[in-house]
Amino acid sequence: MDFRSVSALAANAITVHSKIVDILAGKTPIPEVVELFITNFCSFRCPHCHCANWHGDEQSYMRVATLERIFAELESLGVKTIEFGGGGEPLQHPYIHDIFEMLRRRGMRCGIISNGYAVIDNQPLREDIAGVSDWFRVSLDGVADDVYREVHGRDDLSYGKLKLALRDFTTMAARNPDPFARTRLGLKMILQQANKNGLAAVCSEAKAMGADFIQFKWLENSPLSLPEGERRAIFEFLDHMKNSAENDLIIDLLPGYDGESSAQKNEKCALSILHPLIDWDGAVYICAFFHQRRKTHCLGNINRNSFLDLWESDEHKITRMAVNPLQCVSNCPLKRYNPIIEFIKKERYRFPYI
Ligand code: SF4
Ligand code: SF4
Repeated sequence: MDFRSVSALAANAITVHSKIVDILAGKTPIPEVVELFITNFCSFRCPHCHCANWHGDEQSYMRVATLERIFAELESLGVKTIEFGGGGEPLQHPYIHDIFEMLRRRGMRCGIISNGYAVIDNQPLREDIAGVSDWFRVSLDGVADDVYREVHGRDDLSYGKLKLALRDFTTMAARNPDPFARTRLGLKMILQQANKNGLAAVCSEAKAMGADFIQFKWLENSPLSLPEGERRAIFEFLDHMKNSAENDLIIDLLPGYDGESSAQKNEKCALSILHPLIDWDGAVYICAFFHQRRKTHCLGNINRNSFLDLWESDEHKITRMAVNPLQCVSNCPLKRYNPIIEFIKKERYRFPYI
């Protein structure tokens, strides 16, 4: 049996099934991962960026002392993994080396969502990333200089240089003596008008870089989105790529966050408890999709309270209960776990009898 026929979502959820059982019993377990937006600044100007309206300048970053305190508390609570996302571009934090070093000292691991551009001509940063991350997912969105520049909104960018730097990165990461600890490189392609004709080259480019996975996702609710009429042919093409991808390259086709077609639109998620977010200014939110509802999603600020105080507060439960699913992103990735939670609810009686 092909191991890829196992659902990655189901594997993730069943790994944390005891926490899910606690959630179903009305308890509030400690998160499995905490997402951090360590900076609110990004030097790219992607026309499709859903955070552009909220970006700040280079000074909008989380102070190192705050991060040290957060890591110390999360480690003491048993949280072992951090996800760096944005918000802004995490690798543009001015003290990113110190941040990775703090994680490394504590034996914590991370996943990184990034545009990746900072690794060009920066071997120390590549070494930092390979030393502390389980995965490094780079938003590529184009595999030719002209498309790459258009999609990321700057005329001076070089896809070619990024490709070489990522090739160096995977070569170095492959030297990790522990194959389980090797950082996986992932590539992201937001499907839109500008890149619709360059998809045939994406797989070969990914292989040339030594990437482990590619995620394709539709851009939704934008003038740059592809109309429905153009999607079927692209979907079929990507499906063919997915099924014929050689070796270990994993290809996922994911729905756009704001797609209209979701059957789960009215459903609430249960697993945001396992993946909260701390923004660059210390505000703690119940999930990463808070920008349009800061007040109703916020639990308080890490600069005034400990994480645990906020986590165990009555306000946390009230805030979660008050979430209006119709204001959530309709294809929220956390909702994709709902059928698996239902499975755990119904079938866990036999889990220990392997
Ligand atoms: S790289 Fe990411 S954060 Fe920066 S502008 Fe583009 S989409 Fe936004
Ligand atoms: S957007 Fe809504 S469904 Fe998604 S994680 Fe946040 S609260 Fe849950």
